[in-house]
Amino acid sequence: MQGLMMDYPLTLDRILEHANKLFPHKRISTKQPDGSIHRYTYADLYKRVKRLANVLQKLGVKQGDRVGTFAWNGYQHVEMYFGIPAIGAVCHTLNIRLFPDQLAYVVNHAEDKVVFIDATLLPLFERASDKITTVEQYVLVNAPQGIETKLPNIVHYEDLMADVDDDFEWLKLDENTAMGMCYTSGTTGNPKGALYSHRSMFLHTIGENQANALGLTEADSVLMVVPQFHAMAWGLPYACAYSGAEMFMPGPHLKPEPLAEIIATEKITVAAGVPSIWNGLYHELRQNPRDISSVRALIVGGSAMPRSLIKAYEKDLHVNVLHAWGMTETSPLGTVSKLQSHHANLTDEEKWDIKAKQGYVVPGIEMRIVNDEGEELPWDGTTMGEVQVRGPWVVRDYYKLEGSSNQFTKDGWFRTGDVATISDDGYMQITDRTKDLIKSGGEWISSVELENTLMAHPAVREAAVIAIPDERWAERPLAAIVLTEDAGDITADDLREFLLPKVAKFWIPDKFVFIAEIPKTSVGKFDKKVLRRRYTAGELG
Ligand code: ADP
Repeated sequence: MQGLMMDYPLTLDRILEHANKLFPHKRISTKQPDGSIHRYTYADLYKRVKRLANVLQKLGVKQGDRVGTFAWNGYQHVEMYFGIPAIGAVCHTLNIRLFPDQLAYVVNHAEDKVVFIDATLLPLFERASDKITTVEQYVLVNAPQGIETKLPNIVHYEDLMADVDDDFEWLKLDENTAMGMCYTSGTTGNPKGALYSHRSMFLHTIGENQANALGLTEADSVLMVVPQFHAMAWGLPYACAYSGAEMFMPGPHLKPEPLAEIIATEKITVAAGVPSIWNGLYHELRQNPRDISSVRALIVGGSAMPRSLIKAYEKDLHVNVLHAWGMTETSPLGTVSKLQSHHANLTDEEKWDIKAKQGYVVPGIEMRIVNDEGEELPWDGTTMGEVQVRGPWVVRDYYKLEGSSNQFTKDGWFRTGDVATISDDGYMQITDRTKDLIKSGGEWISSVELENTLMAHPAVREAAVIAIPDERWAERPLAAIVLTEDAGDITADDLREFLLPKVAKFWIPDKFVFIAEIPKTSVGKFDKKVLRRRYTAGELG
């Protein structure tokens, strides 16, 4: 027997309708390239999204067409997040930090027909444009009239917007229509495309806003440092709109000093970004203290937040850190590490141990760990296995990528490539990515745990550990270290001694190299591919 419930397609226009009805006065603020702040409301966003839908139809964009965005976080980019899906097209966010060849590959592979480009990023895009073959129309955002460019067929965003009205009837789209697309940042291989649907993003939005997840409410003011080109800004633009939270977009102002300034003056309650951003902010706040007591959650994900940094934020700055895990392929939210009631009597040190884990799975997603044979492993906090997930906002394949099926199991699970333990109360802790694990004499060494332990040394600002080939043991760890400015004469032996009581003896890296900076990927993760290449080229000693 079938239920007798309404057929109510889960499409993103419902989210915007809700925001416009309940929170028309709530603000979306953007720090513009010139430093001024643009402010408008959800009511303004609502009208501008309808205008953009008309613009896209006038440009000839059809349902299913891919429309690229090459932009900082800002209000026009939010308009694209809603406006492109509104006509059934796909909002393909392009990572502004890709190399020209990678950028051209991604645009051509997705067959983007129209691309929106922030004027400040035009020179970056032009470096790739000769190799781009699919784009028929470029739309410049925030560009002065008469701007010089080698791109063909340019039009200005505001000219287009002025040319149409804001009358637009929402299309009655099927909830499974594709709405967004994001390529992985390629930390461990070539970029691969995840293609989200209205339904998957709608459910992700509800999932993310659960009290047991990020739980945004209309009382929040959210600083989105995580770029809109990285896993849909973790879905936050949709989660903010549905909950009525205000959004603050930092535009290109991503250095610690302006971020500290924004948090203090805008009374930000939730800020989201990757660990390297929060590492920089912490040092800034220690040097130039500010009142950031408005922050109720500093959300961090994308790579492991070192326990030492969580402790530093909580102990020195009294900021609650909320560690989360996810992937482009999981829309992205998968787990959060919030404390639960049974943790109430733990010591602070024990609480930080838990907060440094990636956390429990968000309701809506299922998670398991398995061994090489695909057998499910126990949740005992020590057995390590590959993390697999499934759920309504997890991809079931990559876009136009033959041979990707080995990342999906026959019984419908997605193989994440992360290796982890899960405790009996459900807290997942990543020990490594399968490709970064160090296999020494048949035993695994966790590069992530070594890095976290090293970064707890007061003189170590950043540490990245890679495997180097070894005749006897197959692989051995090498630690690349960035020291703090006031580190003094720290030597490899000092660090070895520091590690000795904390990790198994065979984990102690054979080599320590001191470098000025750890190379980072386009989304701010340690780029171990580059470190390995440098080692092979003899540049790491
Ligand atoms: P890429 O796969 O190119 O790095 P993603 O941004 O989708 O692009 O990265 C997803 C991966 O990032 C995860 O599989 C995991 O290895 C890592 N990751 C994300 N969040 C965390 C976290 N909180 N702790 C440790 N690793 C994380």
